[in-house]
Amino acid sequence: MTNEMQAADFMGDDLIRIVTRPVPDPGPGEVLLRVAANALCGSDFKLWHAGAQFIAGHEIAGHVSAPGHPLHDRLCVVYIPMHCGTCQACAAGNTQSCLTVSSLIGWNRDGGYAEYVAVPENCLLPVPDDIPADLAPLLLDTIGTSAHALREAARHLATDGQRVLVTGAGPVGLGVVLAAQALGHDRIEVAEPNPARAAIAADFGARIVPVGDTENRYDLIVECSGAHPARNHAIAQILPKGVIVLVGENAAPWTIIEDKVFRRKDFVLLRTFYFPKGDFDANVELLRANRDRYARLVDDAFPLAALPDKFATFAQGRSIKPVLSFREAR
Ligand SMILES: [Zn+2]
Ligand SMILES: [Zn+2]
Repeated sequence: MTNEMQAADFMGDDLIRIVTRPVPDPGPGEVLLRVAANALCGSDFKLWHAGAQFIAGHEIAGHVSAPGHPLHDRLCVVYIPMHCGTCQACAAGNTQSCLTVSSLIGWNRDGGYAEYVAVPENCLLPVPDDIPADLAPLLLDTIGTSAHALREAARHLATDGQRVLVTGAGPVGLGVVLAAQALGHDRIEVAEPNPARAAIAADFGARIVPVGDTENRYDLIVECSGAHPARNHAIAQILPKGVIVLVGENAAPWTIIEDKVFRRKDFVLLRTFYFPKGDFDANVELLRANRDRYARLVDDAFPLAALPDKFATFAQGRSIKPVLSFREAR
């Protein structure tokens, strides 16, 4: 192994440059990972537009490269929230919301758009042998985030046999459709303006409803778009005693008008983030149970040199969950 690697530098202004960087030197309690795949994510658009201080990439699968380590050569995915393991949140299992460490790999330190990444050992989630590297990143945002949102919602739902609306059918929204079916919901409707994405949701068995519809009422609304109008529509459309889960992200301030639609109804407005590390085994089972459908979301795989062009294609909404894949390079 040389001590240099190729990595993507998100320069800002929608430009990515492939650069040579030193192979990272893992700190205490960290290991080096040889990246096998890093899935592209819509949340990376922020860095694509504004530039990244660190190497981006937060849906990482790779092989541990630490001779003598018990996980050496093992394929792992990277749990991106760094966590102490001992604070009140971690002790309660909420490792995604650690009270003492708040850094995210790929955001606040170097991530996976590179040949190697150093990660804390407690962020390694070993992947079973039957799951290939290109699908493994789905266990994170696509399955982990969506299934966690549904499990949290289930704790608050007063009814069963619910009518479910998913707003936004990107990777997380489509992940919600698949996880919701696996968790027993059978009346799932989807609002999504991109026809190709809506078509996939329909193939997965969801009923497509118009974006901006305010007629239908739901027991559970999983808001995956981050769009403020979608959030406001959700407040109008949620049935009394229903649950709205906000999963989509939006950095702009969101104003809730406290009119009678908002005020005169009992409902739960829930925010969820990522997933607790303890969910991982259950999430592996979700992938196994619906592998062909999940595999359909990974609609492109390419080497690092193609990332600048492929990221632009992804930004146009022309692929769902493409992966930067190092499999051909080795
Ligand atoms: Zn992501
Ligand atoms: Zn903690």
